[in-house]
Amino acid sequence: MTTHLRTSQRLLDGCTLFIGGEWKNGMETFQRFDPSSLSQCTGVYAMSTEEMVADAYKYAKTAQENWAAFTAQQRSEVLRKASDILEEHLETATRQLTADMGKAIRDARGEVLRSIAILRYYSGDALQPSGDVYPSADNSTFLLTVEEPLGVICAITPWNFPFAIPTWKIAPALVYGNSVVWKPAEAASGSAVLLAEVFEAAGLPSGVLNLITGSGSRLSKALTGNEALAAITFTGSGGVGNRIRQSVADRNIKIQLELGGKNPAIVLADADLEDASLQVLRGAMYSTGQRCTATSRVYVERAVSEDFTQKIIDKVNALIVGDPYIETTEVGPLGSPEQLKSVNQFLALAKSEGVTILANASAPDSDCFFPPMVITDVSAKSRLVTDEIFGPILVLQVVENFQEAVSHANNTEFGLSSSLFTRDLTTAMKFIKLTQSGVVHVNRETAGVEPHVPFGGLKGSSSLNREQGTAAREFFTTTKTVYIRST
Ligand code: NAD
Repeated sequence: MTTHLRTSQRLLDGCTLFIGGEWKNGMETFQRFDPSSLSQCTGVYAMSTEEMVADAYKYAKTAQENWAAFTAQQRSEVLRKASDILEEHLETATRQLTADMGKAIRDARGEVLRSIAILRYYSGDALQPSGDVYPSADNSTFLLTVEEPLGVICAITPWNFPFAIPTWKIAPALVYGNSVVWKPAEAASGSAVLLAEVFEAAGLPSGVLNLITGSGSRLSKALTGNEALAAITFTGSGGVGNRIRQSVADRNIKIQLELGGKNPAIVLADADLEDASLQVLRGAMYSTGQRCTATSRVYVERAVSEDFTQKIIDKVNALIVGDPYIETTEVGPLGSPEQLKSVNQFLALAKSEGVTILANASAPDSDCFFPPMVITDVSAKSRLVTDEIFGPILVLQVVENFQEAVSHANNTEFGLSSSLFTRDLTTAMKFIKLTQSGVVHVNRETAGVEPHVPFGGLKGSSSLNREQGTAAREFFTTTKTVYIRST
């Protein structure tokens, strides 16, 4: 039987708040526009007020107690149904994602498929062993740990992965018995409405998941200051993440922050240059460079710098940039006019600093399109090297050797992902030890993560706890240590 979703109607009516199991309008609304065609309005959304956030917490608190009393099998089944419903609506979800933030359709489809895989992973994980049994110093005591849900979780998510990031936070939060108040980025609100509808259609009880559309800065106090709040899971920029950390610093709640990146790739003289240039191209330019794990800097050993540079120039210049709804398009527009403005400011900086533009793909000169480019002759102190650009601009630097490359790669406040291209196992092992990033790739692009393993950054890229895989169970539960003595 086909499940009917009403996302398109809700986005016409601005009925996008899902609170206590009911879809609601707001007093105010905001609109979003397709970044590949800015004359197209893609949705009208309710602008939540602080009172509505308070309502969401109230419902979430009551609903959580009932939800926690469900069996793990019952919670697992809701996620399994959600995965089937999302799969049924794969193409609608894919197009919604592209309409929201311009991701090329084949990458958007890949992201929705990943959300389906995440739902299935946590549906299965719900039935895995929970807690541990320990030997006790007293033979008549049975000593064990049990895992308990935390309570009400606030999930605040960015626009660059409208399906995958919310799913990898919400699915584990729910399956271990928590309820959720979710504030997605404005630019990902259409996908958020669809995903919330999927959970509703899967039979999630009222109030267990609450969706708040609106402005993060306006709702900050209401989201982070509510008494019912037990934990915050946030993905977004370092500035906002740090503000959230400070706003809950005097409260004893769990907090998880996944922040920005400035990810380096190192190409050594013994690397397979054809493959390395392809991987670096993908890491830097796919998803229009708007992945937290995107390759932003590449350090190439001098002996192969000319060869490698030519290969990457050829590949960048051949990129198909354009209409994100066409299957063959490799790079769509930037996510929004605000994002275009921000990346254009980096381009203006590059021009003012007199950098050399090595490659410049052709892109439509309209809407939010921006031509992917490779630049060089950039000072190591330039903001082009130190700051997250979050767009398809790759900085290429020539280095003398591995040591110099690693020293440049680590010279950053960020530490999310890094790559090394080499055929030498010993150097690869050294790199794994020396690189200061939470995700390390050898002969692979910096972007791309699998859902069943821990994910997260070091240094300024994260609060150091991990998401996904078994790390999610650790974050979204707390432990009770139980001593049972028979008399
Ligand atoms: P952002 O920080 O602007 O916004 C993220 C979310 O926070 C949005 O929902 C926004 O509405 C909300 N928000 C904004 N101000 C707030 C406030 N004062 N209080 C509470 N919430 C607030 O980030 P973005 O532009 O949506 O996303 C891009 C950033 O996210 C980049 O820096 C990127 O590297 C990072 N990111 C990191 C990861 C990771 O896993 N490390 C993954 C994806 C994106």
